[in-house]
Amino acid sequence: MKIKITIPTERIHNPIISESIVETGVLLNIMVANIDSTYGELIADVKESRFDRIKKALESRGAIVSILDQPIHRDEEECVECGACISVCPMNVYSFDENWNLLVDEKKCIQCGVCIKMCPHGALKLGQ
Ligand code: SF4
Ligand code: SF4
Repeated sequence: MKIKITIPTERIHNPIISESIVETGVLLNIMVANIDSTYGELIADVKESRFDRIKKALESRGAIVSILDQPIHRDEEECVECGACISVCPMNVYSFDENWNLLVDEKKCIQCGVCIKMCPHGALKLGQ
């Protein structure tokens, strides 16, 4: 499952992620990390069975943890299969099949919203 970990300014200098991993033994596959000296936001994959454990450890250190459970949804009636979303998606959610039909692999979506802004037909939104 994909989760978002937000580290607020007052905790940004603490090794929240590494301490939580060492304490729990839960592995995080970090897919996106935007961290500077004032704020941190990470997207990670974690096994569903280990989520509660790592969430508790992260939150006890001041992080905010949320589940990314509203992946991209395409309105097939509106989509004209122009391919604009393919080039902007950082997670390769979109592709064409051999007949140039658009394929959407929602499981890879990190809910960044970039493709929504690029779609000329307003065919994309987050959630159902
Ligand atoms: S950008 Fe919009 S219209 Fe174009 S292929 Fe993607 S979903 Fe369809
Ligand atoms: S919201 Fe982001 S990750 Fe999800 S399909 Fe769109 S561009 Fe890709």
